[in-house]
Amino acid sequence: MAAVTDPTHGLISQVPSRVMGTTRPIDDADVVSWSPPRVTGVSEFSVRATTLLRRLEAAGLDQPAQSELSELRSLWRTLSADERDQAATLASALAAAQSNGPRQISLVDEDAARRALSGLDGIEALDDTVSDRLYHGPPDPDALLAHFGLDVFRPGQRDAVAAALAGRDSLVVMPTGGGKSLCYQLPGIASDDLTVVVSPLIALMADQYRRLRQGGHPAAMIASGMDGAAVSRALADVRGGRARIVLCSPERFASASFMDALAARRVDLFAVDEAHCVSEWGHDFRPDYLRLRGVVDRLGSPTVMACTATATEEVADEILTRLGLRDPFVLRAGFDRPNLSFDVVRIDGAGAKARKGSLLSLALSDCSMRPAIVYCGTRRDVEEVTELLRSEDLLAVGYHAGMPPDERASAQHRFMSGDAEIVVATNAFGMGVDKADVRAVIHWAIPTSVEGYYQEIGRAGRDGMPARAILLSSRSDLGRLINFITRDATQPDEVLALLRRLESRGARETLELDPLSDDRERICLGIAERAGYCRLEPTRGGRLAVTLTGAGRPARLTTICREARDRAWRAYHAVESFACASDACRRRTLLDHFGDPRPGAPTGRCCDICDPDTIGLPDPATLAAPRRPRRRDRAAVGGTGPETPVLRGADEVLFLGLREWRAQAADGKPAFTVAHDRTLTAIAAARPTSLESLAQIRGVGPAFIERYGADVLALLAASTAHDGDRDDH
Ligand SMILES: [Zn+2]
Repeated sequence: MAAVTDPTHGLISQVPSRVMGTTRPIDDADVVSWSPPRVTGVSEFSVRATTLLRRLEAAGLDQPAQSELSELRSLWRTLSADERDQAATLASALAAAQSNGPRQISLVDEDAARRALSGLDGIEALDDTVSDRLYHGPPDPDALLAHFGLDVFRPGQRDAVAAALAGRDSLVVMPTGGGKSLCYQLPGIASDDLTVVVSPLIALMADQYRRLRQGGHPAAMIASGMDGAAVSRALADVRGGRARIVLCSPERFASASFMDALAARRVDLFAVDEAHCVSEWGHDFRPDYLRLRGVVDRLGSPTVMACTATATEEVADEILTRLGLRDPFVLRAGFDRPNLSFDVVRIDGAGAKARKGSLLSLALSDCSMRPAIVYCGTRRDVEEVTELLRSEDLLAVGYHAGMPPDERASAQHRFMSGDAEIVVATNAFGMGVDKADVRAVIHWAIPTSVEGYYQEIGRAGRDGMPARAILLSSRSDLGRLINFITRDATQPDEVLALLRRLESRGARETLELDPLSDDRERICLGIAERAGYCRLEPTRGGRLAVTLTGAGRPARLTTICREARDRAWRAYHAVESFACASDACRRRTLLDHFGDPRPGAPTGRCCDICDPDTIGLPDPATLAAPRRPRRRDRAAVGGTGPETPVLRGADEVLFLGLREWRAQAADGKPAFTVAHDRTLTAIAAARPTSLESLAQIRGVGPAFIERYGADVLALLAASTAHDGDRDDH
C-alpha cells in the first residue's frame, strides 16, 4: 500500500487500507532533518550515489541495485532544496546510468510527483509571503470573522468559535464543506498564544496552510516531505512567537525539537481535525490519535476542540472519552447534503458485470453526469473499468495506490484540470482533493462502510449545484467484504506469538524496530499495547521503540480482538442494509445512520425510492452487454492497455529522446504535467503517425494533443527516418 510520503513510517502511523478504508498520505515525523549535522544528508547521498553508479556500470540494474536505489530515493526526499541542487548532477547521472531498461528512474521527476500527490507542491514558496495581518482586536467572533474578510457565519460556526474563545472544550460535528476549520482558525489568530491543529493528512494541512498564508495570517506548518530549511523556519516561527497557528500530524509529537518549540509558548487551543480517527468504531482509526490526550496534558491542558465530518453517536462518545473533553460544548450540524440525489441500482444474476458496464458507460455518456468519480473496490476493477470507458471513447483515467507516483500524479492532474472528465479509482483517491464541480460519484461496487461511502459521495456537488450519488450494488460484492473481515480478524494467539518473538530479540529492554512493512504486525503491536503487554514510542525515521512490560491482561486482549471483529461485522451489516434495501429513502437511511433526526431537505430529486424516475439511468433489466473493446483497433496502435510494452533498440533510444523532449516541454513544471513515463514508453513502442492514433494512447488527452501533438509526431517522424537511414547501412 504505497503511501504518498516516504514508505518508511512507523507502526502507528499507518493502518492497512482494508482496515481504515483508504490509503492515504500520512505524515511521518522525523524523516525530515531533526539531528543537527545536516551536512551528512547530502554527503551520504553523494557517496552512496557514486558507489551505485559504479555498480550500475559494472552489473546493471540487478536486485541489490534496485533496493539501494529505493533507499537513495528515500534519502533524496529528506534533502533540502539547496542540497538537491548540489546533488542534482549525481541524480541525473543515476537516471542516465539505467538506460539499459525502459523505465529509467528519475529522482527529480518522481519527487515532484510525490509532492504533488501529497499536496506539498509550492508550499515552500509561501515562506516568501508576509504574515503581517496580525489581529489586535477583542476576542469577539464577529470581529474575527470580519478580520477574515467574511460576512456571515455558517450554521453552528459562531457558537463553536465563542466556546473556544471562552476556554470551553468542544466537539464540532459538521459535514464536509460546512466550514469546520474556521471554528478553530478564528480563535487561533485571536491572541498571541499558540493554537495547535492536528490533522492526519498532509494534503488537508497543506490546503489550510496555503489559504491562511495567502490571507496574510500568522500560521506555520510542519510535515515530512517539506525540505529541511522550511521545517527549521517553521520551528523557529513557533518558538519565536511569529506563528499563532501551527498545523502538524499526530506523529509529530514524538519529535523532541517540535516539543521543545511548543514548550516555548503558551498553548491556548488544541484542535483535533478528523477527530473520528481516534475511534475504533470509525473507518479511519489511527492509533496515534490515542496519544493525543497525553500530549494535551503535557502542553498544560489547553482548551480542546475536536472536529469531524463523520461521526455516529457511538463515535462521538468515543471521541469525548478518548480525548478527555471536559464538560464539552457539543455541536452537531446537519448531515444532509440537499443538492445530492441518491440512487442504489441493484444488478444481480447472469451477466451482472456486463450489465453494470453498460449502465456505467450509458450514464457517463450523458455530459450532465461529468466530471465524475467512479469508485471501485479493487485495483483490477479500476484497470478494467477504465479500459471499458476508454473503449467507449470516454475520457477516463485510472487511479490506485499500486500505480507509480508519476502516473497517479498525472491522472490527478488531468482530472483536476478538466483534461480527463472521469477518474476511475480505489478509495486511495480523493482525500484532500477538492474539485467543486464533480457532478456524480458512482460506486462500481458496494463500499466497505457507510462512513467511507458518505465521505466519498461528499466529493460530489461541492459547488452547491445538483449532483448525484449512484451505487451499483450486486450481492456478489458482499462476498468480498466478508472475506476482508474473516481474513483480517486478529486472534489473541497471533498477538502473543509476536510478543514471544520480540522477547527473544531482547525487547524486555527496549527494542528499536525498523519501519514495519507488515500490516498485521502493526495491528498486533497496537493491540498488544492497549492490552498492556508493551509500550510503543515512535522514533526517528519511522522506527518504533518497543518495550515489553512483562505484564499484560489476557482477558483485555481477548476483549479487544473480539470487539474489533464485532465492529467489523456491524460496519458490514450497516453497509449491506444500505446497499440491498429497496424500500427506505436513501437520504433518510444515511441521516439515521449518523444519528441526525432532522428531516432531509433535498433541493431537487431526493432518491430512487422517493422518486423512481431515475433520469438518465436505464433499467438494468433491459441492458445488454456493452460493445466489446475494439481490440483490433487498439492492437494496431499498441500500448493503450494497462500493460507496459518492453522497449528494445531503436524504441529505447526514442524513449530517451521523448524524455529529453518532455523536460523541455515541461518548462520548469513537473514532468507529469506533460506525460508520465508509461505514456512515453507506449508512444515509443507504437510510433503513431497521426493525431488520432496518438490520442488512443493511455495518458494522452485533449490537452496533450493540442499542446504537444504536432511536436511529438514530428519527433517520431524524424526518429523513424533516422532509424531507416541507419538500417540502410
Ligand atoms: Zn428519498
